[in-house]
Amino acid sequence: MGYYSEHLIAAMEEGHGSWPYRSAASTYAQAQAQAQADAQAQALAEIEAKQAAFDAAKSRAYERLMRIAPDIPTVNRLHRAYRLDVLPANAPATYYVSSSNWGKTNLVKYKVRLAGTRSTCTCPDFRYRQKACKHILAAWLYHAAETETD
Ligand SMILES: [Zn+2]
Repeated sequence: MGYYSEHLIAAMEEGHGSWPYRSAASTYAQAQAQAQADAQAQALAEIEAKQAAFDAAKSRAYERLMRIAPDIPTVNRLHRAYRLDVLPANAPATYYVSSSNWGKTNLVKYKVRLAGTRSTCTCPDFRYRQKACKHILAAWLYHAAETETD
């Protein structure tokens, strides 16, 4: 322990000069807390901005698809697809899509593989019709927004 440290401790133990050091320590702790709060606020703002950009891109993809929807069932399917939860899977162009929304706590997820007109889904609707179900449309909307905002 150097002379200054010993001197400092002795001074603080005696009560001399303890105020400036405590004050400095307190100021330092406050600055640290403020820096952390600023970093958190900035990270949150970045996440919110990314989410807003993603939502806007998804909305635009929805409008584009609505304009070219070939029939009323597709329009209805697309409308329902917009609110489904989509989770990217750990494989290219592959997504897990919630089976339904409507506020149900239905945890069934179907696996969608996007491949243009040869996209597939594990749901019964797709197996029966072999045409784009609402899960494929939901995955497509997510993919389009993801691609645009990447
Ligand atoms: Zn499906």
